Amino acid sequence: MPVRSTVAPGEVADALPAVAPEAPDGLEELIADLDRVIVPGLTQTQHPANFAWFPSNASLSSVLGDLVAGGLGSLGISWQSAPALTELEQVVCEWARQLCGLSGAWQGTIGDGASTATLVALLVARERASHGSQRRGGLQAESAPLTVYCSAEAHSSVTKAALLAGYGADNLRAVPLCQPGREISAEALAAAMAQDVAEGRRPAAVVASSGTTATTAFDPLAEICQAARAHGAWVHVDAAMAGSALLLPEMRPLFEGIEEADSLCWNPHKWLGSVLETSLLYVRDPAALVSVMATDPSYLRSARDGAVVQYRDWGLPLGRRFRALRLWCLLRLEGAEALRARLRRDLANAQRLAELVLQAPQWSVLAPVKLQTLCVRHDPPGLAGEELDNHTLSWCEAVNKSGQAHLTPAILDGRWMVRVSIGAEPTEWPDVEQLWALMQRAAKEAPSLEGY
Ligand code: PLP
Repeated sequence: MPVRSTVAPGEVADALPAVAPEAPDGLEELIADLDRVIVPGLTQTQHPANFAWFPSNASLSSVLGDLVAGGLGSLGISWQSAPALTELEQVVCEWARQLCGLSGAWQGTIGDGASTATLVALLVARERASHGSQRRGGLQAESAPLTVYCSAEAHSSVTKAALLAGYGADNLRAVPLCQPGREISAEALAAAMAQDVAEGRRPAAVVASSGTTATTAFDPLAEICQAARAHGAWVHVDAAMAGSALLLPEMRPLFEGIEEADSLCWNPHKWLGSVLETSLLYVRDPAALVSVMATDPSYLRSARDGAVVQYRDWGLPLGRRFRALRLWCLLRLEGAEALRARLRRDLANAQRLAELVLQAPQWSVLAPVKLQTLCVRHDPPGLAGEELDNHTLSWCEAVNKSGQAHLTPAILDGRWMVRVSIGAEPTEWPDVEQLWALMQRAAKEAPSLEGY
């Protein structure tokens, strides 16, 4: 199958009946439709030549966990409603904590994604900074605005979370970056906080990025935590994609200072291989979550309350899926050693590709390759500005249209470039070599692309 789906908008919906069947369809017809309509209507995320966005692996071991969870149909609304659901979540969060080399001060929970985790962190930070304003008049009754800080290249979910948590766009600071590493400038952060305080605002939270989406830059956690602590601000670490690298002791210096943060999220559903919606949120003080999220309806009370963890009080939803099974199956059936070997393979492949790109005339690598993502551009002589953008988009589209590989273009410093994100589970070095040949051919032959 082509890596990027070739269906046109509406094609999938048009291929299916407009109304639900009155009588049951046969299983064979259903499977035929899966093959005929649904699967071709998907970009092949698990393809060895998928280098788009970020790895979104679904290892078969984790798929088994997902099937078991669906089949058991457990109702995760309280410890009593599914004791094993709660306790396996505690166990696998603890396993993952140890594998990541995090101290015993952290306790984890599994949610749907990093976006939700950031929202939860910013809600808790808001309540800590406002001394529980939600139990009074909310932010609307506060006299001094609360402020939030993040890297200028933080993920869009950080802005979204800050807006949803009620801080307001006027109180969200996108702090400038250092070059060439593209990490947040700790000095600029401290200066922004000091200015806000001088002008009567209260710094409530910093969202630090460990592995930004565009370039996998790492914000300096130790300095950030120090600056935040001076104002009593909460530090949340968004390591959505890059958190898997914590499994590798040699990569942990990138996260130096993490132990000083208040909360940390990473998604085993990205690079590590768990099926989507397996997102770990660790906090140092679960009571802070509970004080903001807990509800106590009579029908959820049981004689075990007080002796058990009620994960519904650690986040937004009441009913929770048995997500821990995915990670449990992944870790048990693959083993940590094999997972670490796969992550190291991807890091090595990224470095090998970076060497090839750097040696090639007219090609450049635009940001340090800290993990498995490369940001590249082909600069033919005489092309600049919009013409260069057109060329970049055009060769990238040629690669994607070929069906043989999939890449994502993105804007960096106002100019289009192309991200090569290595890390699909089946991707080996020959797949990366083939991609490089394809990129070079596409850049040589690229027509200009209108109307991207
Ligand atoms: N943060 C970073 C750094 C990301 O790269 C992403 C997704 O790519 C997210 C947050 C959003 O993650 P999720 O899809 O789990 O909400």
